[in-house]
Amino acid sequence: MTESPREPSIFSRIIAREIPATIVHETDTVIAFEDVAPQAPVHILVVPKTARYATVVELAAGDPALLAELIDTAGRIAADRADGSFRLVFNTGEGAGQTVFHVHAHVLAGSLEEGSLAH
Ligand code: AMP
Repeated sequence: MTESPREPSIFSRIIAREIPATIVHETDTVIAFEDVAPQAPVHILVVPKTARYATVVELAAGDPALLAELIDTAGRIAADRADGSFRLVFNTGEGAGQTVFHVHAHVLAGSLEEGSLAH
C-alpha cells in the first residue's frame, strides 16, 4: 500500500521505536533493519533517519554525503552478512514499485536468483 506523504512514514515510526523491527546497524544518521518481506537470503533496508528526502534523487541533490554513507553502510552489511557482493536497489516512484516515500536502499545479497530485485 502506498503511504500518504503527510503521515510519518513507517520507517520514521521504526526509527522512533513506535513499531518493532530487527535493527542490524544504527548511527546518529542512518538505521538499517531487516525487510519484513525478504526477497533474498539477506534483505536489509538502509534508511537515513531524516524524513526529508522521499527518493534517492532528492537525497543525491540535497545531501550527497548522506547518500554516500548509505552506500558505505550497505557495503559493510554485505561484507558482514554475505560475501561482500550485493545488489543495491532504490525503487524510485510509484511506477517503479516504491511504496514508502522515505528514501531507503534495499541491500540484497546471498545466493541471488537471476533477475531477483526488490519487486
Ligand atoms: P519500496 O517498495 O522500495 O518502497 O520498499 C518498501 C519496503 O519496506 C518493502 O520491501 C517492504 O517489505 C518493507 N517494509 C514495509 N513495512 C516494513 C516494516 N514494518 N518492517 C520492515 N520492512 C518493512
